[in-house]
Amino acid sequence: MPGKRSEEGQREVAAVEDGGDEGLGGLTVEELQQGQETALALEDMMALSAQTLVRTEVEELYEEVRPLGQGRFGRVLLVTHRQKGTPLALKQLPKTSTSLRSFLYEFCVGLSLGTHPAIVAAYGIGIESAGSYSFLTEPVLHGDLITFIQPKVGLPQPAAQRCAAQLASALEHIHSHGLVYRDLKPENVLVCDSDCYRIKLTDFGHTRPRGTLLRLTGPPIPYTAPELCEPPPFPEGLPIQPALDAWALGVLIF
Ligand code: ADP
Repeated sequence: MPGKRSEEGQREVAAVEDGGDEGLGGLTVEELQQGQETALALEDMMALSAQTLVRTEVEELYEEVRPLGQGRFGRVLLVTHRQKGTPLALKQLPKTSTSLRSFLYEFCVGLSLGTHPAIVAAYGIGIESAGSYSFLTEPVLHGDLITFIQPKVGLPQPAAQRCAAQLASALEHIHSHGLVYRDLKPENVLVCDSDCYRIKLTDFGHTRPRGTLLRLTGPPIPYTAPELCEPPPFPEGLPIQPALDAWALGVLIF
């Protein structure tokens, strides 16, 4: 799995090996196979995408309009295509902290999932510049959900219900692809209108195939599932399951 970036306090080891029941960590053989097939399909997609990266400086093709957000790994800019004027969101990841492999991984996971209405649509354009890697997605201009949640009040209940339904559907879509999202939090939920009739999940840097072994090496975040906070059942870590996302969704709704 991708190098350099890993979720705060969590360590990935590798995909679960074939073995007896005791080696499956609660996954069925079918679930394990689905995760392994997903990992292989992503490897193929990454190899193909590496060959089609556009090698240029971003400014050559796109004009910066304004920043849209700053994450732990990269910044997101609203840009327009210099010839067509099309507005786009450009996520830029510095090479100092992101390997080519990590970039290709996030780019390809986003591309393979971006067909769902509650997942940000990805355009298949990856750019390699001297100091960064970038890819383009649809811009969502009302900010992220954290700016809508008022301290001690939260969201109005109808808006919260709409968010819950859309996020459950987006996670179901991700799980049906053999993946676990692993990073559900309001900062990764983009809002298309102020009443949350349409929201979109973004940031697939932590998404991993089901069955990837993972363990906590630092303090948990509020959305971390309890099974990850306990000592792992295997020395190598816990084979990840969609249940991790279900827990995080529960915390977010609460
Ligand atoms: P990181 O992986 O570094 O955490 P994110 O992908 O989470 O970065 O993006 C950081 C922030 O940028 C998000 O919290 C959000 O506010 C904003 N953002 C990301 N993608 C978009 C987009 N397509 N449209 C509008 N804003 C976005």
